Amino acid sequence: MPPSALFGDSAIDAARPIRVVVVGAGFSGITTAIRLLQRVPNIKLTIYEAYAGVGGTWFSNKYPGIACDIPSHCYQLSFFQKTDWSSFYAPGHEIQAYLQSAVDAYKLWPYIKLEHRLTNAIYSEETGKWNLTIQYGNAEQFDDTADILITAMGALSRWKWPDIKGLDSFTGKIMHSANWEADKGEGAWEDSWKDKRAFCLRAKAPIASLWRGSAPNVSLSNGCVDTFTCSPSLRASSHQ
Ligand SMILES: Cc1cc2nc3c(=O)[nH]c(=O)nc-3n(C[C@H](O)[C@H](O)[C@H](O)COP(=O)(O)OP(=O)(O)OC[C@H]3O[C@@H](n4cnc5c(N)ncnc54)[C@H](O)[C@@H]3O)c2cc1C
Repeated sequence: MPPSALFGDSAIDAARPIRVVVVGAGFSGITTAIRLLQRVPNIKLTIYEAYAGVGGTWFSNKYPGIACDIPSHCYQLSFFQKTDWSSFYAPGHEIQAYLQSAVDAYKLWPYIKLEHRLTNAIYSEETGKWNLTIQYGNAEQFDDTADILITAMGALSRWKWPDIKGLDSFTGKIMHSANWEADKGEGAWEDSWKDKRAFCLRAKAPIASLWRGSAPNVSLSNGCVDTFTCSPSLRASSHQ
């Protein structure tokens, strides 16, 4: 065996360089990054985030009335506490701002690459590394490698329309709570909902807050807002 295989050129107690890629900058990715930087010496960290901002769920979900559904003082990092939440169940934009303030406080920005989507990841047994493909914006793709790949991609970031026959030919307005058109037209479409009947199809979203938030804009005068659900545990409040 050549001497170089027996003796490296570093001190025995020097931490080996380790390249870590975290995918996602929501609650999970941000917390993971904070702890990694605090505890792993000689780490080379990158956080790839597909959205144009941090906060994950709380960056992308912007429907009227959005809020957490457990008390805010519980829904935060134990080591980075906010004590002036504006309400017991804080609105979504405030939670996003809180997460962004954690990114500021723990100086994570240099590690975060926004609008970078992981599109492919293959582990090489030969090199012991992850070979990654990243798409930046709409155009460029490039390769990266990592010793450790941590997916913090969330359960709700890959939303899709339900598979309902005729959905694509429905002529009314169709909105998905995870892709609300909050910033398109300053609520113009909401005005057009007046005197219209709204139907809500839900799987898991805390839809009560959506209707609370929409109530000023959606007329209930012609009867009701009908809510259809496919989960038995959510049926109790299915007609509001
Ligand atoms: C309205 C609402 C209310 C909620 N209330 C509560 C509550 O009260 N309590 C509670 O515990 N939970 C609640 N949740 C659940 C909430 O999603 C989680 O608590 C938490 O925010 C999930 O964080 P995360 O980092 O795991 O995932 P996310 O917040 O989904 O973040 C994942 C990130 O990964 C990114 N990503 C995904 N794929 C890729 C890719 N291929 N490349 C690059 N980036 C990628 C996404 O863009 C996203 O930013 C609620 C969710 C909603 C929508």
